[in-house]
Amino acid sequence: MKLEKLATQKILNSYPLLLDLSKASPIKNVGVEVGPGWYPLVYETLGLLNDLALRYQSGPHVNQIKMESGALEVLSSNSNPDLEQTLIEIISRYLSGEICEVCGATGVRQHLSFGYHTRCERHSYLRNDVEYNIYKYKVFENFINSDRQGLKTDGFAYVHVYKSPYYKNRGCVHIYEFPEHLLSLKESMEYQLHSICHDDVNDLIANEIIHSVNNESKAVIFAGDGSRFAKKSLNIK
Ligand SMILES: [Zn+2]
Repeated sequence: MKLEKLATQKILNSYPLLLDLSKASPIKNVGVEVGPGWYPLVYETLGLLNDLALRYQSGPHVNQIKMESGALEVLSSNSNPDLEQTLIEIISRYLSGEICEVCGATGVRQHLSFGYHTRCERHSYLRNDVEYNIYKYKVFENFINSDRQGLKTDGFAYVHVYKSPYYKNRGCVHIYEFPEHLLSLKESMEYQLHSICHDDVNDLIANEIIHSVNNESKAVIFAGDGSRFAKKSLNIK
């Protein structure tokens, strides 16, 4: 069997509860619609989403995995994803902008003559020629022989900002720092994140805290409660 097919089957066979493998589903019909360099990222992302599906005995039902404008898109049928699923999808999309879709090395999202792609320097101008195929098989072979290693989440932070339930004009900033690797979501994500809470601070202090998290982290995902306090605090230049 061709390595490409084996690599796709590894993904499809690993997560039967998570994936929509019905006849009309794109993933069943065309497989994983990304370059070989992203297969490990797809595998780790789906692994975590699968943990969620197992924990809740429902949840995301993924029906398509594709590259859209140089970024990884994992499409599922549930329209109301929970926080853990949303964070995983945001982080995966971010990481896909740093991984060469051909070989899996460090890459940059760039606009090439054939659209947006994330590529390393070496594969910037590579289309579907002989060298692409050589890399493809090497990368697929490595992927087939590897186990789950977790999603590389070092430097990511999630920040939740909301108005204080107790004091007027004050609010809370909760920072959740991700570990080096997020290995599993069999248990809640909360236990694996390092949390720092700043309760009942004014918006100037909140803004300072948020600035410093933003400067120290690789990427920060912000969520506010829509309050005036959150809007003022999240005013990041
Ligand atoms: Zn490359």
